[in-house]
Amino acid sequence: MANTKHVFAFEDGDGKNKHLLGGKGANLCEMTQIGLSVPPGFVISTAACLDYLAASTLPTGLMDDVQAQMRALEQKTGKGFGDSDNPLLVSVRSGSAMSMPGMMDTILNLGLNAETLQGVICATGDARFGYDAYRRFIQLFGKVALGVPDAAFDKEFDAIKEAAHAKQDVDLSANDLKEVSERFLAVVQNVTGHPFPSDPYQQLEIAIKAVFNSWGGKRAVDYRRQFHITPDMANGTAVNVVTMVFGNRGDDSATGVAFTRNPATGENKLYGEYLVNAQGEDVVAGIRTPKPLDRLKVEMPEMADQLDALRDKLESHYHEVQDFEFTIERGQLYCLQTRNGKMNTVAMVRTSVEMEREGLITKEQALLRIAPDSLEQMLFPRLDPTIKAEAVAQGLPASPGAASGIAVFDADRAEQYGREQGRKVILVREETKPEDIHGFFASEGILTSRGGKTSHAAVVARGMGKPCVAGAEGISVDVNRREARVGLTSFKEGDVITLDGTSGKVYLGAIPTVEPDFTPELNVLLGWADERARLKVMANADTPDDARRARSYGAVGIGLARTERMFNDVERLPIVIEMIVADTPEQRQAALDKLLPLQRRDFRELFEVMSPNPVTIRLLDPPIHEFLPDEHVLERELSELRALAQNARGVTVLAGAMGLLHASESVRHDIDIARRMIDPAVVEDAIGKKEAMLKKVRALYETNPMLGHRGVRLGITFPEIYQMQVRAILEAAAECAKAGIQVKPQIKVPQVCTAEELRKVKTFVDDIHAEVAERYGKPVSFKFGTMIEVVRACMRAESLAEEAEFFSFGTNDLTQATFSFSREDAENKFLPLYNQSGILQDNPFDVLDVKGVGKLMQLAVEWGRSVKPDLHVGICGEHGGHPASIEFCHKANLDYVSCSGPRVPVARLAAAHAALKAGNK
Ligand code: PEP
Ligand code: MG
Repeated sequence: MANTKHVFAFEDGDGKNKHLLGGKGANLCEMTQIGLSVPPGFVISTAACLDYLAASTLPTGLMDDVQAQMRALEQKTGKGFGDSDNPLLVSVRSGSAMSMPGMMDTILNLGLNAETLQGVICATGDARFGYDAYRRFIQLFGKVALGVPDAAFDKEFDAIKEAAHAKQDVDLSANDLKEVSERFLAVVQNVTGHPFPSDPYQQLEIAIKAVFNSWGGKRAVDYRRQFHITPDMANGTAVNVVTMVFGNRGDDSATGVAFTRNPATGENKLYGEYLVNAQGEDVVAGIRTPKPLDRLKVEMPEMADQLDALRDKLESHYHEVQDFEFTIERGQLYCLQTRNGKMNTVAMVRTSVEMEREGLITKEQALLRIAPDSLEQMLFPRLDPTIKAEAVAQGLPASPGAASGIAVFDADRAEQYGREQGRKVILVREETKPEDIHGFFASEGILTSRGGKTSHAAVVARGMGKPCVAGAEGISVDVNRREARVGLTSFKEGDVITLDGTSGKVYLGAIPTVEPDFTPELNVLLGWADERARLKVMANADTPDDARRARSYGAVGIGLARTERMFNDVERLPIVIEMIVADTPEQRQAALDKLLPLQRRDFRELFEVMSPNPVTIRLLDPPIHEFLPDEHVLERELSELRALAQNARGVTVLAGAMGLLHASESVRHDIDIARRMIDPAVVEDAIGKKEAMLKKVRALYETNPMLGHRGVRLGITFPEIYQMQVRAILEAAAECAKAGIQVKPQIKVPQVCTAEELRKVKTFVDDIHAEVAERYGKPVSFKFGTMIEVVRACMRAESLAEEAEFFSFGTNDLTQATFSFSREDAENKFLPLYNQSGILQDNPFDVLDVKGVGKLMQLAVEWGRSVKPDLHVGICGEHGGHPASIEFCHKANLDYVSCSGPRVPVARLAAAHAALKAGNK
């Protein structure tokens, strides 16, 4: 290994080899080689670091190479290392392949000693500057390379400040700072037992070893463990030795930081700030207020032109917005560092579109530089990031966006305060049911203390684009007292709270929000995305409003209309309950007859909004418990009614007893009014109805409703329900066709586990189709398909494909079924622990479990297409809007993904990413 090259001048190092030269070193090499004015320097490799750590001694010949490089630096700068007339000073910095901020401090001004200090003072004519640099160097070197604690220096420094009556460091004179440096030298002697090393080469060698040692130090080892930085990502640290340049050499010197474009808006204009006659740390420390770069044009016009040229060079080389640091030393501009600029999403989107137009990047690069999830910033309001607030509870981030409003504990009052009084309300419930839907419409956001990300509250809020925090189990909701307790505090109806549905956090009080910003550039970018994506993006939408929103976001159809959600309406719900609890086919038919025209209108509206794109309507799939009143609530209401009946009877008795009491005319009158107000017959009637309902609720009770009488099982036991829906779909389509509106209806059947179920449903679909064709004089074309959401459906995909024209993966239920994890409870019971302890890497209800659920999907696609090669396949579970899951869907050869409307832009970009990453369409 003796001949291994360990030391590389910035002109020679491979700018792409971060592993060998560290991120910073490689970057400095690349910058030098593309002709940027970088202060001369060199890199000692990470391999040298590893050799040193293994042998506890520097590799043979390393310091000879370092000396050779130092001589080259002397030539390039015209200065001498250790030369008291014209001293060369350097900085020594660590830098591994992965950025590890704070792992190791930088040593500045290395090369200073009593003699070279005089050279600096001579050259600058500024004794204060010289002593200030010297005392900073002694302290930094003492701390980093010699292990002298800061406190020892600070004690001396404070003593001198006090003696000089100086409030701030800048108030100290040259003489004060001279004394500081002398005391600092004494501190080093006392603590280490050795004099401070004055020989520059000795300083350099100690500094190099200290940087190498820092790689094995506790701080760095802990950091790597914490951030999972493995040796193949970064092994050893490089050392960068760079010529010092000074921005504090007078009014022709300056230092600053800049972005090549505005990181907040994306505007194509140099953005940043600078300070004249200052060092980099002065900009960061905020002691003086920096000036905007526009001022530089006035103060140093030539430097401003050079900075513009630097900006162009950076962007044309890196093809990315750069965030860079610069120093001007006596009229000479240096670029000290550059990296890709971090920007908000609005700026990312705008710069993507503009840089493509300027020919700096391709459309593919423009798409790939934006993380799909980050688009949410442009679609939903968010909490003002400048406000710091403490959350009182954490739930599941069930629907993104943020909102504040008064807490309201039931849907009727939400409507009263929100709709009627125009106040902003947050609906707070233990969990929500379809009967709460009017409360959703009237609210800014929804908070539940129970339920997962696919619970009713979550799914409905997502469809509406309203923020929702679900399953915040730390909150205990008392609907009767209109109050919620959170730990030691509580909030009542009327108290303002804030929800962040993107993070799942709940706050007391109002926190300002930042409005979303769907810009024209985003539309351009998403247009490019559509050209590259193979997967089509459809929407899960149940109402015309949801559908319109989804379409405006670019959905090319509805992949899932959950018909049970269409009954989420105060007027319809009683009819649906009537249908569910009917004792006889006649009673059920009577309810269905009322629902048919309503459903026909629902479907017609969806067809119209989406025309000519496909609309996939799923036949009823209600876990019945979602629709029926709660047994305990019914019991409570019954006992209240019975008490009322007793009172009413008592009032009747009282009225009869009037004669005995010799009561006055006015008392008799009041009692008569009371008797008429509560008619015992009406109360008895209400009791009868409630008792019947309670009996029904008990009869229909299922221990496990999610695996119960739902989906196609309901359609088989009560075929008249599905028949009504199929009729409504086909008649609506026929009406549209008659009106010249192009429609593509698709009927899909939920919860199917055997082909026989599909065949049964198909029989009456065909019958009704023929009937409708005859009545309207023309058959409507439609597609018939199945949800794939139970494991057996995957296993029997071949036989299902014989009946179905399309498959639609319901991965919410399929995940539940594959893991045997309840989708209602798992997310706030044991899953967080599973994720924290690494038993499961992700929440499978969020991120598709590719290894398990995905495997089943792949098998089902393969087997289904073996029977029907043109089988159309998509996904409509919540995973359909998740970028990593979309990537899997692309690889698994699905045709489309379907997700809630507001998620459509994210899915469009993710679909393009998937295609570009796979290198095909
Ligand atoms: C699913 O199970 O993934 C699905 C889309 O259906 P739902 O969420 O309505 O059960
Ligand atoms: Mg389902």
